[in-house]
Amino acid sequence: MLRQRVCRMQHSRATMTVAMTPEDALRAQPDTAAPYLASRSLAGCPVHVLREKLRAVGLRPTRQRTSLGWLLFAKGDRHISAEILFEEAMRARVPVSLATVYNTLHQFTQAGLLRELAVDGAKTYFDTNPSDHHHFYIEGEDRMIDVPSDAITVAQLPSLPEGMEVSRIEVIVRLKPKGA
Ligand SMILES: [Zn+2]
Repeated sequence: MLRQRVCRMQHSRATMTVAMTPEDALRAQPDTAAPYLASRSLAGCPVHVLREKLRAVGLRPTRQRTSLGWLLFAKGDRHISAEILFEEAMRARVPVSLATVYNTLHQFTQAGLLRELAVDGAKTYFDTNPSDHHHFYIEGEDRMIDVPSDAITVAQLPSLPEGMEVSRIEVIVRLKPKGA
């Protein structure tokens, strides 16, 4: 009963202000609450939803995964680099190294929670929306905008190497300001 109340309070705080850091969230929801995850009464709580989401893909919801997952997924669909996520973690006082951020992003990607988007050789973004879609990439701003999958039709493909089939087609349309 108490847990339920704490969770509801935390949920409304998170929704109203989005000011709560992952560490705040975890303090409000200690790991001991984990066995109660399946309880229907906790279904709307973002930390519980996140922990369930991790468990559902076979990842143990450790403190670091939960903190980084909170930063990644609590703000809706977005495209984020490891460096930006690391900066956000520092600002939120989540004690992680850049290497841990990289590892966690790759674990989330392998588990299907994120999609990795290689824009340039040096630039990799992680998309919190892993469903099929394409992207606009705005050069100079390092910004990606989602394009629905049915908005682009690839009319012709070269013949595929023997024994291969198309796994997925991802289109990145690179944009620049007119006249630039
Ligand atoms: Zn996207």
